[in-house]
Amino acid sequence: MAVSKRSWITSANDPVSDFPIQNLPYGVFCHRGETRIGVAIGDRILDLRACVREGLLAGLADELVAACGAEVLNPLMSLGRGAWRGLRARITELLDADEASKAMQGRVEALLVPMREAVMQLPAQIGDYTDFYASIHHATRVGRLFRPENPLLPNYKHVPIGYHGRASSIVVSGQEIRRPRGQTKPSAGEPEFGPTKSLDYELEVGVFVGPGNALGRSIPIAEAEEHVFGLCLVNDWSARDMQAWEYQPLGPFLAKNFATTISPWIVPMEALAPFRVRGPERAADDPAPMAHLRSPSAETDGFDLTLRVYLESRQMRQAGAAPILLSTGNLRALYWSIAQLVTHHASNGCNLRPGDLLATGTVSGAATGSEGCLLEKTREHGPIALPGGELRTFLEDGDRVTFRAGAQRAGMPRIGFGECAGTIAAASRDRLL
Ligand code: MN
Repeated sequence: MAVSKRSWITSANDPVSDFPIQNLPYGVFCHRGETRIGVAIGDRILDLRACVREGLLAGLADELVAACGAEVLNPLMSLGRGAWRGLRARITELLDADEASKAMQGRVEALLVPMREAVMQLPAQIGDYTDFYASIHHATRVGRLFRPENPLLPNYKHVPIGYHGRASSIVVSGQEIRRPRGQTKPSAGEPEFGPTKSLDYELEVGVFVGPGNALGRSIPIAEAEEHVFGLCLVNDWSARDMQAWEYQPLGPFLAKNFATTISPWIVPMEALAPFRVRGPERAADDPAPMAHLRSPSAETDGFDLTLRVYLESRQMRQAGAAPILLSTGNLRALYWSIAQLVTHHASNGCNLRPGDLLATGTVSGAATGSEGCLLEKTREHGPIALPGGELRTFLEDGDRVTFRAGAQRAGMPRIGFGECAGTIAAASRDRLL
């Protein structure tokens, strides 16, 4: 797409908008009681089901047109790159200031919904959720807390580490996150049950799977990205005290699966193409990835995507104070590329399915200020001072955590991911006995 393209929808050309015509992320929204697929453009949503009804997608394959009328993105995800490219080209034509005639603009205008009137939904029916551990800086910093002399386990540079999360508790941005209760073990004393005292966020990027692989079949790395529909933001909320007590010997469980927040808009891989960079860099004395994880396109397997974390307490909100920026990271910091994660996941014959969600794991950089969770930030540097005098080691009830992301290159409009936000609610008082 020409980098200079502009939309006739003026809000899309505002440099602060996350959604210029070069982005066109997909989401699912509810408006006036009807749930449908839409595409974000400026401060509007283009209603794809209405586009189908009005014949604006005529000429595209029948199954593609049918997928645009669905209530979830899974059917569209299953169709693959050729279909996605055709649909994106058509939507671009409809929204392009130079290509769409005045008459066409009038027809499309009637199918736009103001974003502020829509309630965003989960974009897909997520069958399975897998969380990785692909940032070596996160793995090293967290490892150092537990094993100062040996922070990185010997497998880390050979095998992408991951675990199976829970799909049922994935929620869309904006929903409250109830502080989980669970078992913890104070360093001195007996194990106890109660609300977590160390609730944390994890800044991650989500990967929505497009076409899957059959059970028993694998995905060669040269084809890995054909199985990726697009990216979103993920907050993999974590209860650190519960995690420390439960994680051995089988790994994360109730410390993680009480809730996971995702941003509602899925940014297509095509929109991210201009922001590709070299894939993970390995130090000269690191082992090379095994042959099946060695990518022929390593020069472009990374993404220059800036990630930001903001925090606002209830007290700040009541005082009208702006959220503070807690950290700034970049997806380039990953040790394993998205292509490597996909290929590794299917290398044993595990079948990925359209709408499955993979997450990178906490994205942390090497530098102070680029930590992707509070555990890393506050164990090394002490509590964070908020405006108004509050201190934070972990999240308190009423705290709101917001992730944002954007990609930018000279001479091009910036594309953004929208928000991935959640506010902490007090723990449940449900009876357990
Ligand atoms: Mn995680």
